[in-house]
Amino acid sequence: MRLRFPLQASTIRRDGPHEALGNSYGIVRNNMTKWHKGWDLAAQPNTPAYAVADGKIVQRLPDVFGYGNCIILEFENPKYNKNLRMSTGIANYEKIYALYAHLSQMGAVGPVAIGQLVGRTGISGNAAGEPPHLHFEILLENALTHITPRVDPGELFGYGLYQC
Ligand SMILES: [Zn+2]
Repeated sequence: MRLRFPLQASTIRRDGPHEALGNSYGIVRNNMTKWHKGWDLAAQPNTPAYAVADGKIVQRLPDVFGYGNCIILEFENPKYNKNLRMSTGIANYEKIYALYAHLSQMGAVGPVAIGQLVGRTGISGNAAGEPPHLHFEILLENALTHITPRVDPGELFGYGLYQC
């Protein structure tokens, strides 16, 4: 299962009110009291966003509160391990989901190949007024709610973007 980053040049943004740590995953905002559920990757508006794996766009969600225009890409979990049923976390999920948020353009629902254009970045949702970026999450279930389980995208893509 091959993976790639969602943008041609993927870097965690270092500008705006949160600095680099607050734009990474975890309880990293507002003096370490508030969750940020994904990565903020620096991107000028209309930067192409690409499928991180072969899969399919399963949701196309216009104007979600906070998130703006979003798509959700379903793909096979390279960390799935059917022998680990007693554990928790990413190894339990055969399919997982990449969320692309604050888009200006959203690709169509349906199958996509790794590297295929799936949308363009923007400033929709609560990105307006902040330096432009792609908000990117890994969801373990196909639902965009506050309680949907998520993991640090670094579990799949490594932690090389974390330089803080
Ligand atoms: Zn964000």
